[in-house]
Amino acid sequence: MPMKVLSVASEAVPLVKTGGLADVAGALPGAVAQHGVAMTTLLPGYPSVLKALPRARTVHSWDSLLGTSARLLSGKLGEHPLLVLDAPALYDREGSPYSDAAGRDWDDNWRRFAALGRAAADIAGGAIVKRGKPQGFDLVHAHDWQAAMAPAYLHFAPLGTEAVPSVVTIHNMAFQGWFDRKAFAQMGLPASAWTMHGVEYHDGVGMLKAGLACAAAVTTVSPTYAREIRTGTFGMGLEGLIIARGNAVSGILNGIDIDRWNPGRDKALAETYTWRTLERRLANKRALEAEFGLDEDDGPLFIAVTRLTWQKGMDVIPQVLDHLVGLGGRLALLGSGDPEIERALFEGAARHQGRVAIRLGYDEDLSHRMQGGGDAILVPSRFEPCGLTQLYGLAYGCIPVVSRTGGLADTVIDANPAALAAGCATGIQHDGVSHDALSAALTRAAQLYRQGEVWHRVQKNAMKCDFSWTASGKAYADLYRSLIA
Ligand code: ADP
Repeated sequence: MPMKVLSVASEAVPLVKTGGLADVAGALPGAVAQHGVAMTTLLPGYPSVLKALPRARTVHSWDSLLGTSARLLSGKLGEHPLLVLDAPALYDREGSPYSDAAGRDWDDNWRRFAALGRAAADIAGGAIVKRGKPQGFDLVHAHDWQAAMAPAYLHFAPLGTEAVPSVVTIHNMAFQGWFDRKAFAQMGLPASAWTMHGVEYHDGVGMLKAGLACAAAVTTVSPTYAREIRTGTFGMGLEGLIIARGNAVSGILNGIDIDRWNPGRDKALAETYTWRTLERRLANKRALEAEFGLDEDDGPLFIAVTRLTWQKGMDVIPQVLDHLVGLGGRLALLGSGDPEIERALFEGAARHQGRVAIRLGYDEDLSHRMQGGGDAILVPSRFEPCGLTQLYGLAYGCIPVVSRTGGLADTVIDANPAALAAGCATGIQHDGVSHDALSAALTRAAQLYRQGEVWHRVQKNAMKCDFSWTASGKAYADLYRSLIA
């Protein structure tokens, strides 16, 4: 009998995505399936999700789920089972899953996502009844603060008597879901949950904190980030709890969905290619230059596909544009976020017409064309739990130029002389995120690029790396099994 695991997330491809969490939640069921895990995903019923399930069956309903009526719909996420929490008062809002059109977080986010956790605990405990039999789960896997109340409900207020173990995965410690203490009274938790070992955090409700305290195991998305969050800089206040959880905390790297991210079959590309046919990449580079209105030449074409935030180091990019262009490079950047950074980037692009071009917005297909046509992708994150864009870069031979932190440190092998001599270099790393560090990395990238054969060797090394879900799917399945036993 396969283990039955309920994965709870606030986003999952292809139904709703704002970042890497969605890629992971969407791929995980397939990744663990071959290791004896039958995974069902639970998502909130945002309009985009409900639209994809026109003929869904109702499998359970609540008269009052934290004060609102809700029903549970059953559908499919790709080939895998999906449950959708349809609670119109909470989720029937267009746009971002978390904020209004002006970008302000919804006031009732505590209720929206506590309800998700409460529903998950009920479902795991057997709320769905088929032919008179409750259909519980062996384990709950909760992603980020939006799902992290599930372990707290399972611990303090389970539906059934049987203890269902849980795992919390931290995809980004910067987002913790902290709310005013007033919320606690409406969460349906016993008074005993209001302690430093439960949901209380700095005199408010800490949703991620509650999950980290109550889950049987905590994972984050790279081994280096799992170590980093034991320190104040990366733990962001929760380092003490992470240290206290000791060996219950581990790091499992994200994989990439090699069906969606495969340059040999990618329909978004002008020309598909493999490491054996690298020369065909040039057509994609020419197409990308044309698409961005950049000069056509044979210097290095840098790209970036990212949220425009301080975390991603994007405030430093405008400072290094003169240097990048001075090296004979060009930059095509796709992203959106901090208006200050957007403004600085546009200013830089205006000074460097034909050399620097910025696209604001979110465009999945364009991100594929950029990985397939760019020579190198810049990922100068100040912290990076795992990072996916450098993995796509590796798969597409778009050499990652990354800061040495978190998952970037774990997935990119710096092209230092030893790694070049050993034939295993896959990218360029820099220490710290500053004008000087990034400039030096750009110089190294441009120098390496000009040594055509050496560069192609690094591209081939990168493209041959296996960042599929094979290893990580097994690691999650092994973890689940150890907790159920
Ligand atoms: P994070 O989740 O912190 O934003 P990740 O690197 O883990 O960073 O994941 C980001 C995901 O979102 C990747 O799949 C990346 O390709 C995608 N992405 C980010 N910004 C954009 C954008 N502007 N357009 C298209 N895809 C984007």
